[in-house]
Order: sequence, then structure tokens, then C-alpha cells
Amino acid sequence: MREGAVTGGCQCGAVRFRVGGLGRASICHCRMCQKAFGSFFGPLVTARGLEWTRGEPKRFASSNAARRGFCGDCGTPLTYEYESGIDISIGSLDDPELAPPTVQLNPNDELSFFGHLHALPGRPEGEQAGADAFLAAVVGCQHPDHDTQTWPFKESKRK
Ligand SMILES: [Zn+2]
Ligand SMILES: [Zn+2]
Repeated sequence: MREGAVTGGCQCGAVRFRVGGLGRASICHCRMCQKAFGSFFGPLVTARGLEWTRGEPKRFASSNAARRGFCGDCGTPLTYEYESGIDISIGSLDDPELAPPTVQLNPNDELSFFGHLHALPGRPEGEQAGADAFLAAVVGCQHPDHDTQTWPFKESKRK
């Protein structure tokens, strides 16, 4: 549980939100979360007092029990909305460190390699210099991890 305002938003910045507090943080292994996040699991945290401060997500009713919100411009997964509450995606918080997961849900759908991910080797040493040079030349278009007065954000221009 965490009290106090927390902000976040999608990758492109068209949708921004503020929540009054965070509840239980989880990772969900269910197949619907894998699909909705395009990932190995769904990282979600219960949100209290959610307000949209810029734009609003599009929604997809992934079942008769829930809707999933995402940015209609860039596709970032944002919410899991159910009858008794709303969860927000942990990666969309401006500071995901505020929501360390405390529980794993729906283990029956857990991918077989999930338990080995932490032991994977890093990039081979010979490749690192090239990767560093590439990253140094990248001009990011991702919205920064804080609220902005104007949009689009002026400092990040496409090439
Ligand atoms: Zn977006
Ligand atoms: Zn799930």
C-alpha cells in the first residue's frame, strides 16, 4: 500500500494519469494478460482515486468481467478495469519502483521459461560497443517520466 499522488502515462504521452494511492502490486501469468501486454505476464497495481490528466485510454472488453485500457495512439497497456476496482500497469507509472510486485496470480498459465529469465546471460562482450554507439545516436520520442505543460513534448523531435 502506498498513499500519496503517483503519476504516469503512455509511451507517446497522449494519455496521462494521476492516482491518489497504490494498493496490491502483482504479476499475472494468465494468457489474457500475456496477450494484452504482448509479454510474459501482466504487471498491475491496484489504483485508488484515478484521474485522467491528459486524454483517455481506448478500451477493449477482454471478457464479460473486465475492460482493458490502452493508448489509442501508441498502444501502451494502461488499465485493467473490473466491477470492484481498477488496476494500472506498473510499467506505465513514471516511477515503476513504487510498485514492487508482492504476489503472482494464475500460475497455471505461467510460461515454461519464466523461472529461468533472471539467469539469462547478458549481451556478448564483443557486441556491447556497437550497442552503446547505436543507443548514443538514438533520438527518443518517448514522453518523459513526468507531467508536461505542452504536448507534443518539444525536446524530443522525430528525425
Ligand atoms: Zn500513447
Ligand atoms: Zn491476467
